[in-house]
Amino acid sequence: MEYRLPKYLTRCKNYFFPRWFTVQSNSANEDVLKRIQDKDVLLVGHDQSPIPTSPTFSYISSKLYSVDETIAELKPSVPLYCLRPKTIEATAAWFVSTFPGQVLYAVKCNPEPQILQMLWNGGIRHFDCSSLKEIELIHALLPSAKAYFMHPIKTRNSIYKAYFHYGIRDYALDSIEELHKIIEVTANANDLSLLVRIKVPENVTLIDLSHKYGASAADAVDILRQARPVAKNLGICFHVGSQCLNPECYESALAVVKGIITQANVKIDIIDVGGGFPERYPHCVLPSRDLFMLAIKRGFQDLNLTEKPALWCEPGRALVCAGCSLVVTVLARRKDVLYINDGVYGNLSDAGKLLNWRYPVRLVRRNEPTSAVANELKSFTFYGPTCDSIDVMKGPFVLPDDVKVDDYIEIGQTGAYNSALKTSFNGFDETKIVLVNDDFPITALEH
Ligand SMILES: *Cc1c(COP(=O)(O)O)cnc(C)c1O
Repeated sequence: MEYRLPKYLTRCKNYFFPRWFTVQSNSANEDVLKRIQDKDVLLVGHDQSPIPTSPTFSYISSKLYSVDETIAELKPSVPLYCLRPKTIEATAAWFVSTFPGQVLYAVKCNPEPQILQMLWNGGIRHFDCSSLKEIELIHALLPSAKAYFMHPIKTRNSIYKAYFHYGIRDYALDSIEELHKIIEVTANANDLSLLVRIKVPENVTLIDLSHKYGASAADAVDILRQARPVAKNLGICFHVGSQCLNPECYESALAVVKGIITQANVKIDIIDVGGGFPERYPHCVLPSRDLFMLAIKRGFQDLNLTEKPALWCEPGRALVCAGCSLVVTVLARRKDVLYINDGVYGNLSDAGKLLNWRYPVRLVRRNEPTSAVANELKSFTFYGPTCDSIDVMKGPFVLPDDVKVDDYIEIGQTGAYNSALKTSFNGFDETKIVLVNDDFPITALEH
């Protein structure tokens, strides 16, 4: 067993983790685990954890103005990320009061500390984390919140730190291998909640996740039987995929759950229906949110279990999407193409070629009114600021046809997976965050 602090990491003093170790073995045995201290990162064997990045956002205002007032005051030359505390709090409160069970926020969707605080203010007390860093963030920011480690494939070090340093007791898994890993690293703990992630049928979701994680029904039966004697609480979880457009997906997933429970014939304490609740975008026609709640209630009832399990969900997008918008500047116009100061490598990656996501947009002009024919609309394509030709957002984005250089555009529905996926490619990584008081977010309704 050999400890080695890679040279380049000594430069990382200011990062979240001050010390890293590499260990030339695949087993994090007790000797190693005793020697690592709080905030150290242990790299075991070939396990390459990502280099932590420092926070890139800065806060320039805590006063609450409208988006238009904020633009007039700040004349921002970098993208401005506008957070709507009331909208986020109200959405959280709606979810907590309407979902017939416990609501966990999926932290990866938007881990911005101010957003986490707003969700807390709206009544969210449970946080679905996938990495040690997310767990540490929740622990530091919201000490009374409960964090859950819901990634089905974890490093030994992260399980160890989660269990012994942060008191995490809830873990997802989708294999016998992972079950053994959790049991070993937690030294045969008897207070674990183990949630077996299952594969669900392919769905009408815009982002299908059914291939990457989840045990087949036959494997799930086996894992549940082996996990039952060691688990304090045993659960089944799934994720239908993000932006799920059909409420019946939840019902058909719960029907798969029912079959698995019948075969496994073990007591189930928790059913977790995951995230996937959709949001409004110009390219999506949505059934009402109530229909999703009804479908889940029906599917849950149909399990027909004598001892009712707890019901959980893990929304990300639906809790934060409408609570943020992004203000960008037009840097150049060439016919129906606008060159703007944010793009695919920045806060708008889903608008790129992979997903071609569309967002509602609104022109904000600073000094002069839009022309008399402003109600003549035109479809535009956006180019982002980096030199890469894939930094293009086809849209179409519909705006008044006299858009010109120095105009601002507010892009709505950008709270989910926008800032979270931002990179610093080509040096275009500056975004300012402001809180705004506009209660009615611009949604997909306009177009
Ligand atoms: C990403 C993720 C979520 C959140 O998904 P949304 O589509 O944003 O609601 C929930 N659960 C798991 C396991 C996830 O990976």
